[in-house]
Amino acid sequence: MAKEEKEIKCSFCGRRKQETDVLIAGITGHICNHCVTQAQTIVRDELSQPLTNTSPFNTLHLLKPAEIKKHLDEYVIGQDEAKKVLSVAVYNHYKRLIKKQSKAQYKEEIELDKSNVIMVGETGTGKTLLARTIAKILNVPFCIADATVLTEAGYVGEDVESILSRLLQAADYDVAATERGIVFIDEIDKIARKSDNPSITRDVSGEGVQQGLLKLLEGSVVAVPPQGGRKHPEQKMIQVNTKDILFVCGGAFDGILRHIGKRMQTQAIGYNVNKEKAGIDTENLLQYISPQDLKNYGLIPELIGRLPVLTYLNPLDADTLRRILSEPKNALIKQYSHLFEMDGVKITFEKGVLDFIVEKALEFKLGARGLRSICEAIMMDMMFDTPSDESVKELNLTLRYAKDKLKKSTLNKLKVA
Ligand code: ADP
Repeated sequence: MAKEEKEIKCSFCGRRKQETDVLIAGITGHICNHCVTQAQTIVRDELSQPLTNTSPFNTLHLLKPAEIKKHLDEYVIGQDEAKKVLSVAVYNHYKRLIKKQSKAQYKEEIELDKSNVIMVGETGTGKTLLARTIAKILNVPFCIADATVLTEAGYVGEDVESILSRLLQAADYDVAATERGIVFIDEIDKIARKSDNPSITRDVSGEGVQQGLLKLLEGSVVAVPPQGGRKHPEQKMIQVNTKDILFVCGGAFDGILRHIGKRMQTQAIGYNVNKEKAGIDTENLLQYISPQDLKNYGLIPELIGRLPVLTYLNPLDADTLRRILSEPKNALIKQYSHLFEMDGVKITFEKGVLDFIVEKALEFKLGARGLRSICEAIMMDMMFDTPSDESVKELNLTLRYAKDKLKKSTLNKLKVA
């Protein structure tokens, strides 16, 4: 028995007790300090997460698609189809990351492809809002890039790499966090191939920019100027791997309905002459959008191929606009009420005021963005006067007042004849 005790060894490396600094006893074996250190390194590598990372982005919240959609519902009204598609795409995308982090759990080598998204819908229907809300829910860095300012290298404008400079900035220069962020590229339709592009400051077709975007979208190591732009030629480039960055592109694609209609008609003729019988909803053709339509619009097939998830947003009708005004967590009406509340004033809106705001937003064709401009125009004087008048504790915004203020505002000049 005494002999056995003398021969206590590390069960992992076989070192004898006297060869170690610490030997920890377990239920059936022992582990030495050398093996503990080595095991820690292995665990860290497996999780591929620096354990000392103190970035606010170092915890990835992987939510189920239904949970993501539920969160989106709190901020974005309607657009159920887009929310569903986006939730699944984002869930699958971050599953790739989780899979990489826990290699041991998923042994079989099935490469999961990237699920970059493209959203088509009129301006002001919630494309940016959706992408921004998703990033907030997931706690990943997020940035918005405008495709219209991008140019091919050598032209006046921004290089495509500048998109990643913004993401780096959003991630506070934490490269690991940047590499799993979300980039929203707005106005992607503006770089469609067009022969009659009037711009002289960038390549005539927009195709060069599309080519430039390919390498970002598919995943490659890109040298990113941390300050962005070309103004600081001396800046040291930062290498960013875009493999796990999720790209969400959005665009209004004005006139794409024509392409969809034409394609549907040809298909309808091929299979079923009667469109009604074929069950086509001609009121909202956007729901039938396919990659083919994007190609006909002028996006190059390689780019479309790297944006495999295609979805659409519905135009906003009066009912949706009305809900946008008051329902989301940070709805405009809630925001204004809060602003007044901070001055100790309770504001109420007479019945009909909200409908009037919606009616005007539709009339001015400003979409949801117009709601704020109209509210500002109506409430500007109130917001100017109330803080100085301490006797005011309650305000009731009447329909007459709203109509009167809007009539006098410059906004009224936007009225569509
Ligand atoms: P897009 O990117 O499609 O041009 P945005 O997402 O920037 O439009 O929308 C502009 C603003 O309009 C948003 O900040 C938001 O306040 C409001 N908005 C638009 N669509 C919705 C929606 N479906 N639900 C809630 N708010 C919306």
